[in-house]
Amino acid sequence: MRKNSIGAAGIPILVLCLGAVSAGTAENRGIEHGRRYDRLVIRNVVIIDGKGTPARGPMDVIVEGNRIALVGGANTRPDAYRNEVHVLDGTGMYLLPGLIDNHIHLHDERTGIAQPFEYEYKIYMGCGVTSVRDVGSDYQKTIAERRKSEEGSIVAPRIFLYMTASGWTPEEGRQAVRNIKKQGGDGVKIFGMDRDIMEAIADESKKLGLRVASHMGVEETDARELAEFGISTVEHWYGVPDAALKGSQNFPPSYNYNNESDRFRWAGHLWREADPAKLDKVLSAMVEKGVAWIPTFSTYEACRDMTRARNQPWFKDYLHPALEAYFKPSPARHGAFTWGWSTEDEIYWKENYRIWMKAVRDFADKGGLVGAGDDAGFIYTLYGTSFLSELELLQEAGFHPIDVVQCATGNNAEILGMGDKLGRVRQGFLADLILIDENPLQNLKYLYPTGVLDIKDGKLVDRGGVKWTIKDGIVYDTRVLLKDVREIVAKARKAAS
Ligand SMILES: [Zn+2]
Repeated sequence: MRKNSIGAAGIPILVLCLGAVSAGTAENRGIEHGRRYDRLVIRNVVIIDGKGTPARGPMDVIVEGNRIALVGGANTRPDAYRNEVHVLDGTGMYLLPGLIDNHIHLHDERTGIAQPFEYEYKIYMGCGVTSVRDVGSDYQKTIAERRKSEEGSIVAPRIFLYMTASGWTPEEGRQAVRNIKKQGGDGVKIFGMDRDIMEAIADESKKLGLRVASHMGVEETDARELAEFGISTVEHWYGVPDAALKGSQNFPPSYNYNNESDRFRWAGHLWREADPAKLDKVLSAMVEKGVAWIPTFSTYEACRDMTRARNQPWFKDYLHPALEAYFKPSPARHGAFTWGWSTEDEIYWKENYRIWMKAVRDFADKGGLVGAGDDAGFIYTLYGTSFLSELELLQEAGFHPIDVVQCATGNNAEILGMGDKLGRVRQGFLADLILIDENPLQNLKYLYPTGVLDIKDGKLVDRGGVKWTIKDGIVYDTRVLLKDVREIVAKARKAAS
């Protein structure tokens, strides 16, 4: 039975049989939360792959251990898999590669209050995220967590760690990169810095085979240097419009970069001051040099609608009190600049987004690689749900939902240097997959744990939510993961009250 369980003639048969199968003849068999199997059959799904191709199905997928062993047309005979021990019935469901979040920070505390890693992991996985790229955390802890995730001894996404390199001289910069290599970093993170130091760090990273992610500030360097030095990714957006200004940005005389209230307010005026012709050249240079862009639109979303940001529906059950305390407006915390935010600030930021989104779209149209990340844990952004907001914002920027999925899977895998192992539903690839019982191409909101409020037979119902998250071949029921998260939150709230 095993050998011929996916028939070559499966596709044509299936198209005809789909209606009958959808009636719910099959059911899950031998599936337990948190287990990996020698052989697992996922049957009768529609696949949305991570390479920008149309959805196709019904298909069957066979997972062996932590690998995808076979992807083929579905065998819809009711008894097709009767001898299989572990069968997940995907009738009416959509199968995607596990989502990859390429800009996160692992937090085990906020404002000095403990917030367990488990909380962050489970909410990410409940939202379908199976890999994260950490670009700044407590590295010794993250290295230990990364190992535990690899072993499968904790419930966590795959962790890729980019460690910060800095220095006061080019040689110190080089030494920092060598240290990162020695400690086992998967890549290098830099913040905007002086030109000679950036050049040295980029050069040393190239020699040691490490990719470099750059979070620019308003610095001596900008996106032109990033391209020139062969940096791998632009994180966020600073440095791109800056490279297209005529001189400096038109800051008021009182502007102080270290005052975050100033910094985020006036950042909302930056894109409108970029010269379109110059910007076009900057984008072309980035594409030419192979710099990828992870815009993290979701990180700044509060700037264009603060009231909405403070009242997101998932906060009720999923916002940890440590994070809630961190979000409160304060000059003492990064990203807590939100006091006194005005209508005018939001109007500028809405325009800022329009120009920024067009730039990201133009960058992609020129052949640039766009990835997705959420940078959650700041400015009212919650792990996981903000990543799903990022997908919505990519759609708003003009990406077709199929391409949005690609940004969050195939493109992100490529950015990690894992394009031949992750981010696709493909034979031989790692078995990181998600299943959802609504079509996310129709509405990306179906991916949220809270689903979409809809009317069915005259009654209000929640539709959607990722149902199964499979990481490294281990099958997780997201209802269990999310219940755990709600319990962690409820317990922490009780302890804090
Ligand atoms: Zn960040």
